Amino acid sequence: MPDKLSVAEARRAEAVGRDVVLQGWVRTRRDSKAGFSFIELNDGSSFGNIQVVAGAELEDYEAVVKRLSAGCSVSVEGLVKESPGKGQATEIQATRVVLHGTADVETYPLQKKRHSFEFLRTIAHLRPRTNTFGAIARVRNCVCNSIHGLFQEEGFLYVHTPVITASDCEGAGEMFQVTTLPLDNTPKQGPQVDFTQDFFDRPAFLTVSGQLEAETFACGLGKAYTFGPTFRAENSNTARHLAEFWMIEPEMAFCDLAGNMDLAERLLKRICGDVLTKCPEDMEFFNLRIDKTVIETLQQIVDVEFIRLPYTEAVEILKGCSEKFEFAVEWGVDLQSEHERYLTEKHFASPVIVYDYPRTIKPFYMRLNDDDRTVCAMDVLVPRVGEIVGGSQREERLDVLELRMCDQDLNPEDYWWYLDLRRFGTVPHAGFGLGLERVIQFITGMSNIRDVIPFPRTPGNAEF
Ligand code: ATP
Ligand code: MN
Repeated sequence: MPDKLSVAEARRAEAVGRDVVLQGWVRTRRDSKAGFSFIELNDGSSFGNIQVVAGAELEDYEAVVKRLSAGCSVSVEGLVKESPGKGQATEIQATRVVLHGTADVETYPLQKKRHSFEFLRTIAHLRPRTNTFGAIARVRNCVCNSIHGLFQEEGFLYVHTPVITASDCEGAGEMFQVTTLPLDNTPKQGPQVDFTQDFFDRPAFLTVSGQLEAETFACGLGKAYTFGPTFRAENSNTARHLAEFWMIEPEMAFCDLAGNMDLAERLLKRICGDVLTKCPEDMEFFNLRIDKTVIETLQQIVDVEFIRLPYTEAVEILKGCSEKFEFAVEWGVDLQSEHERYLTEKHFASPVIVYDYPRTIKPFYMRLNDDDRTVCAMDVLVPRVGEIVGGSQREERLDVLELRMCDQDLNPEDYWWYLDLRRFGTVPHAGFGLGLERVIQFITGMSNIRDVIPFPRTPGNAEF
């Protein structure tokens, strides 16, 4: 009986001599004049295909092999042999080829020629079959595995925070409302919609962040993280924003800003290091076809110690440099992507963690510093993407937190449960948010965030 192998396994030299069955999709078929055919087969297990040599002596050579075209699904039985060809260790000498599904040459959209990413977005259900999207899917999988790996090894608890929430947590972004009220006949109380008749007896939304809920676990169980979908109804249509994206949010009790920076740096080093060792073929492809600097940049993340720079000094550097920015830099104003990129790409040529931001531009839950003007916030900046991580030490003092809420026109009563964490056994604690798709963009060099998530949700787009 032949062994069922993946293409990745069959491509290794150790597989030579084995009788195997491979199952996948045909990328191309070429016929030699000598009366046999070469089939390039891919099953998603690796970037590279395996070459199948199918001779005319095969039963069904005319009926099956000669009908194969890009996109056909097949099972191939045969012997793994050392390949005489360059760039491949092995090939398959087929003894049997079974066709499962044809793909009409006239109508199957993924024929040989390269398609634009824009076009591929219109066939998101077929793009996993392309080189680029296969590579992205494997890198994304590797990154998720590294994230869980690091947190689990370090004793973090994986918690599932709710997707539906009643608190407009932190004003992190525009929210999607969740309701079962009839839109054409909403119950009213005076001129206002009567949400006491809605499903949750109050307005409810899709979450913009799991942080506040993650804090409840950290402030009781020590170290926790969430890793789940997050929603922002921002009508921004940029290459860096999605309406639905995945966020990783660790939260640590008895931790300050320095400890928080250490974790962010360890996490990014782990993610990048793992991708370099576990997805070398995919990374070579990105480096060759998408961005000639991606491997070098990942290696740098792994090798160098991140620069740590107070916001005030960052502003001085930006004001003093000769670069022409679209937006002016002023103390008290948030850094724009162009400023972040200047710092990390040009001035330092290194990943940079900017910390101690003005209190006026950061949310209420960030810990107020003794200077009364800045908060214990930190953003990690990397080349090409700019901000990839945003985090802070949290305000653990009840009175200060209440004042900060009032400052920002929030009603402390709406956050009674969040304030309880400070009322009972409060501890210094810290955490951050890492956007998964921004990480994948950074690693792969893909310029549009819509191409690093399987089914992008953006204004006007939710077909697949
Ligand atoms: P930006 O200024 O880029 O909109 P933000 O300040 O709103 O980001 P946070 O609220 O701090 O971001 O969210 C934490 C992380 O989530 C960000 O560092 C980023 O990696 C990611 N992120 C935020 N908004 C989006 C979005 N719309 N699509 C994809 N990722 C996002
Ligand atoms: Mn935003």
